[in-house]
Amino acid sequence: HTSTVTTPYRGAGSVTGRVPVGIGRKRTRVVVTGGAGFVGSHLVDKLIKRGDDVIVIDNFFTGRKENVMHHFGNHRFELIRHDVVEPILLEVDQIYHLACPASPVHYKYNPVKTIKTNVMGTLNMLGLAKRIGAKFLLTSTSEVYGDPLEHPQKETYWGNVNPIGVRSCYDEGKRTAETLTMDYHRGADVEVRIARIFNTYGPRMCLDDGRVVSNFVAQAIRKQPMTVYGDGKQTRSFQYVSDLVDGLMALMDGDHIGPFNLGNPGEFTMLELAEVVKEVIDPSATIEFKANTADDPHKRKPDISKAKELLNWEPKIPLRDGLPLMVNDFRNRILNEDEGKGN
Ligand code: NAD
Ligand code: UDP
Ligand code: UDP
Repeated sequence: HTSTVTTPYRGAGSVTGRVPVGIGRKRTRVVVTGGAGFVGSHLVDKLIKRGDDVIVIDNFFTGRKENVMHHFGNHRFELIRHDVVEPILLEVDQIYHLACPASPVHYKYNPVKTIKTNVMGTLNMLGLAKRIGAKFLLTSTSEVYGDPLEHPQKETYWGNVNPIGVRSCYDEGKRTAETLTMDYHRGADVEVRIARIFNTYGPRMCLDDGRVVSNFVAQAIRKQPMTVYGDGKQTRSFQYVSDLVDGLMALMDGDHIGPFNLGNPGEFTMLELAEVVKEVIDPSATIEFKANTADDPHKRKPDISKAKELLNWEPKIPLRDGLPLMVNDFRNRILNEDEGKGN
């Protein structure tokens, strides 16, 4: 569905969603909520590089100014400290809605706030999209499949989610966000896109956010044992962040609503991941076993045929090539931290 409805409020100024700026040039005005976070800041880099005007909305719960500081002074970049749980008035063409803590440690820290961000935050951004006629993209998650009974997971799978567990604020929150997105599409003709993102890694991940890749890489650099939870036989599929950013932009700019799985189908047990980290970062790295967390999904692997076919997208960077790309960033930040402590 490509909406061609024009309303007096339609901020785009054209049905293509691009604003005429001078002769022969069109520029898109884009909002990225959560744009100071890990994925958001990489998306912002690519949008700015393409020549878009970008407004980042972030409350800095898990995001950092450092992630977008290199754009300060660029007249096409704007950073607003704002919590998406509160309404906001802006005029743009596209809204990439990423604001929401993504790591289990962060989203469990204040579960009610996580739900409010997912529900009220998404509602506000959809209200905004409706008022100004902007295109809206939701970054949902593979967690909507819960502890999946179907493997690999296709978009048609409805999931196996515990509604009253410690992860529910996140996975049920995102499920509701998907529902809201489709209801605004059906009820208010908002042009929407839904991405279901699988585990993603890369530079700028929070050092201590508890996610497995950031943990293992930071532990290997700090010469600490890598903490494998449970028996380490649970699986995940890890996608490098630039592949995800390409997928999100292909989705936004394409003609299909989704939902689309965006992930790398390469599937690894946590023990295998530890082996790869050892191989590419430090051959002397060791592992230690720790108790697993509640409701941990046993396996996860995207079926990406739909995105391949309709978005002409597939990830390009395998784990062994992607991990080394985050090591320098992690090393520098760990070094700065140590210097900060006077070590
Ligand atoms: P992140 O924690 O680095 O980024 C989230 C950003 O949102 C941060 O900058 C944070 O400060 C901001 N934020 C949180 N609550 C907010 C609020 N109420 N108002 C305004 N800003 C707020 O996480 P990420 O890995 O970059 O994830 C980005 C999006 O992608 C999230 O929606 C997440 O659910 C989704 N996602 C990520 C992954 C992954 O593996 N990284 C997997 C699935 C889905
Ligand atoms: N909203 C917003 N910015 C806008 C338009 C709406 O933040 O430009 C918020 C609005 O405050 C409301 C939500 O989005 O909380 C949903 O708006 P909508 O107009 O769909 O619903 P209503 O306000 O009628 O409940
Ligand atoms: N995990 C691990 N060691 C860690 C952190 C996580 O073995 O130091 C495991 C965790 O139990 C889960 C998997 O790695 O099975 C992925 O966890 P993560 O928090 O990165 O993402 P999610 O559970 O959201 O997929």
